Amino acid sequence: MPKTRSKRQSGQFVVPGAPLGVIEEFTSGNGTYVEQGRIYAKISGRTLLDLQNKTVSIFPLVHGARVPKVGSIVTGQVLNLQNKTAVIRIFEIGKEQLSGVFSGLLYISDVSRSYVDSIHDACKPGDIVRAKVISEKNRIFHLSTADKNLGVLYALCSQCGHVLQQKRYKVSCPNCGNLEKRQIAIEYGKACV
Ligand SMILES: [Zn+2]
Repeated sequence: MPKTRSKRQSGQFVVPGAPLGVIEEFTSGNGTYVEQGRIYAKISGRTLLDLQNKTVSIFPLVHGARVPKVGSIVTGQVLNLQNKTAVIRIFEIGKEQLSGVFSGLLYISDVSRSYVDSIHDACKPGDIVRAKVISEKNRIFHLSTADKNLGVLYALCSQCGHVLQQKRYKVSCPNCGNLEKRQIAIEYGKACV
């Protein structure tokens, strides 16, 4: 018996990322996805628990719910850096805020059109980044910043946490003088997020 049984009922409103149950109880239906044995809402909408077929689905409330798509320009915050990848929490598509949680991955090869030696030269945790969705698989969005309009919009000093100021192709800290590298967008320091 699973530890946490679903307390969901049909007709509940959920947002993307809301837990719906575990795979021991239900099959993942339309508008849902499975991660580590748990079923989550992929879109905003109302739950439908089909107890006969043991399937949980989500019915969208509105057509075209705001979910990133291939080609979307998204804004997000860098959560952490792995070997050659930045993990980004997407919170905006275009100018619209999202109610759900979407994860994006920025691989080092998609940072710039030119060669980038280290993902640490592109962005750092806490930075706000604008990127384009280039592919999607299992609700993981692969991002690119290889355009002058894309890249870091705001960067934080990794020594003292102040917002860094652009100095040509680098960014510097007005507080402690620290000089850092970023893949900056043309709108660095000017965009409203
Ligand atoms: Zn600083």
